[in-house]
Amino acid sequence: MRKLTLILLLSFSSFAFGDGLPDLGDVSQTVLTPIQERQIGQQSMLEIRYTRQLLDDAEISDYLNQLGYRLVGYSSEPSLEFEFFALNDFGVNAFALPGGFIGVNAGLLLTTQSESELASVLSHEIAHVTQHHLARMVASQKGDTLASMAAIAVAILAARSNSQASQAALASVQARAVQKQLDFTRIHEQEADRIGLDILQKADFNAHAMPEFLERLQRATRLLEGNAPNYLRTHPITSDRIADIENRVNKQPYRLMPDSLDFQLVRSKLIGAQKTTVDAISYFNDALTTHKHGNPIAQRYGLVNALLRNNEVERASQELEILRTQAHASPQSQNNAMLATLSGQVKRATKASDTLDYYRTAVRNFPRHRALIYDYVDLLLQSKQAEIAVKLLAEQVVRHPADTTLYNLQARSYNQLNKSFEQHQAQAYSYAWQGNLFAAIEQLELAKQAGGSFYQLSTVESDLRELHEMLGARAKK
Ligand SMILES: [Zn+2]
Repeated sequence: MRKLTLILLLSFSSFAFGDGLPDLGDVSQTVLTPIQERQIGQQSMLEIRYTRQLLDDAEISDYLNQLGYRLVGYSSEPSLEFEFFALNDFGVNAFALPGGFIGVNAGLLLTTQSESELASVLSHEIAHVTQHHLARMVASQKGDTLASMAAIAVAILAARSNSQASQAALASVQARAVQKQLDFTRIHEQEADRIGLDILQKADFNAHAMPEFLERLQRATRLLEGNAPNYLRTHPITSDRIADIENRVNKQPYRLMPDSLDFQLVRSKLIGAQKTTVDAISYFNDALTTHKHGNPIAQRYGLVNALLRNNEVERASQELEILRTQAHASPQSQNNAMLATLSGQVKRATKASDTLDYYRTAVRNFPRHRALIYDYVDLLLQSKQAEIAVKLLAEQVVRHPADTTLYNLQARSYNQLNKSFEQHQAQAYSYAWQGNLFAAIEQLELAKQAGGSFYQLSTVESDLRELHEMLGARAKK
């Protein structure tokens, strides 16, 4: 198992909390080192996790990272580490934290009408990161501890997005200092547009998607009478800005990029999540029977999802068969992990006797698809096969050290094997990555009581020290 210290130390240890940020006063006030930026981003992420704003869906976050990294490859810093994540917020917004953490609201994902539009938003955010825009704002605030700088980062975002969830963070810093930051964003926006557009084009997306998306948002704003989508507040938009982008884009040929199936499946998932189960069923039914604009595979995927949620297993199973036939006829959907995951879920619901075999093969075909692995492990635990589960989870945790679902499954597996130490340790990591430091400490104390090897116990001790430091930092903010 990966030690908590290994992960968290990376983000916290090189700052001595008691002494504030070493050397920051000497740094030219507007520049942070890449490590400092990453640390501020990490700390901000803990805040976001703690306030439960993350959209807990591995398929959506894997999709965003896949698309995001494809774009990062064409940025000025192709080897920089990024993390793309979705927020459980149906307002339209996206933002970049220092250190490459890029958040996209569920509402923005739904508002984009093509994958190129979504890519245009991500490219713009990537440019904010590679140009260190927010980092420079945060640095100029001269925060004296890492935690307070992270608080400022979150607060700047809160002030500009007006999101209720992050209003609490705003209270912890001087409102006046934040207000000052609202003023010098136009230059940043133009720079992010220009660089973002360049990334978008190099990655072979449709460049026209950028002004089209912004125009649509602006039109929506006019209709809403000043009730601007948050995105327009965090990325102030003017007609000049749109005209500027259009000028650049107009020299480019219009290319129609087909959307990936994953983009459409993710959108279907979100459309369903936004509605009650019954409404979702009738929405997708209607879309399919009236041949509404959209991809019928994605629409049927949404329908099967909703039917499962509503426990209409038999109909879900029938619709899945149709979906399979359709998918088989289309090259890009023949080998799709999200469809394989849904098929498994239907199989489980129908209690088919070959379900375990199905998962064994599917996990072999898609060894990196976490949603599939969650379901497989759950099934393994139901069939009392915790040993296999533990092995599988260990591989995944290395790849996704902040995935709380993996830790929860680990805890369940160890519980089944009567390994108390490991159970509490895994539970502690789950809490720690949710930002629930008290609960994490409690679990580590329980692990200590359960007893373990010298190595295990010293790991717990150093994790405990780490967590207490983080608690101290949070209290100081
Ligand atoms: Zn922007």
